[in-house]
Amino acid sequence: SIPLSFFGGIGGSSKIGVLVKGSNYLEALAHAETVVFDKTGTLTKGSFAVSKILPVGMKEPQFLELAAYAEDYSNHPISLSIKKVYGKKIDSSRITDVKEIAGHGVQSIIDGKIVFAGNAKLMEKEHISFTPAATVGTVVYLACDGKYAGCIVIEDEIKEDSSAAIKALKSVGVRKSVMLTGDADAVGRKVADRLGLDQAYTELLPADKVDRVEELLQQKSEKGTLVFVGDGINDAPVLARADVGIAMGGLGSDAAIEAADIVLMTDEPSKIAAVIRIARKTICIAN
Ligand code: ADP
Ligand code: MG
Repeated sequence: SIPLSFFGGIGGSSKIGVLVKGSNYLEALAHAETVVFDKTGTLTKGSFAVSKILPVGMKEPQFLELAAYAEDYSNHPISLSIKKVYGKKIDSSRITDVKEIAGHGVQSIIDGKIVFAGNAKLMEKEHISFTPAATVGTVVYLACDGKYAGCIVIEDEIKEDSSAAIKALKSVGVRKSVMLTGDADAVGRKVADRLGLDQAYTELLPADKVDRVEELLQQKSEKGTLVFVGDGINDAPVLARADVGIAMGGLGSDAAIEAADIVLMTDEPSKIAAVIRIARKTICIAN
């Protein structure tokens, strides 16, 4: 039977905006040893500000339209910010095919032309010759009909409470805080350094993220647990593989909220240490 105090733990968590889907997850959280974070939308706001629009061989409005149309079907935070800057209604009848290329970007057929929008890795994969942008911001490169069409530089911001969240994890005894990201190395390093994370892995594909989590599971002690925190976009497999999967309730995808064991309704990473504290208290009373 489940001790009554477990329900108290779930209730206490819900009061601070954390949805815990079962008492077993509180037990696992009480032994949190490694906490692994996704970057975009988890440690950073994911609502990017577009800082540069650099078309090649076309006018800016035409270029921005192409980018917004290419991104029409994607829910990635990058896609949302491009569509926000474009600001106009999208005529979906012009888009006849779409494909998300996990960890790379998107491929769409617009007015019968193949359009790619994504990172440098995507351009390389598609043999598009392009000029890498000299910036630490996240860059979305565009290609239309096999030709490079320019890039958009977007700057994401670290969430106000991310730094405090990492410190709080240390203070509740979490040994290792790690970041996994599909973003460029320069961008990932900058975020990791600012936040004082113990480890950071960059330029990862979704499958690489699973491999890193497997390694981290091997490295922890037998009693300790591994917690993964993400928004579910391109990281659903790791959410499932971790001992405890935590999803962002606000920004996160419906699939992630469904797949997660715990949901942060306010998207604030500092709630993780708070719920670990609640879990510890609950376990203590229960035993
Ligand atoms: P992260 O959440 O750590 O950024 P993702 O796996 O979600 O990792 O994305 C990895 C990278 O793939 C992004 O940084 C971006 O460069 C590229 N990418 C993914 N989705 C899109 C998209 N819809 N449009 C443009 N680029 C994308
Ligand atoms: Mg992501």
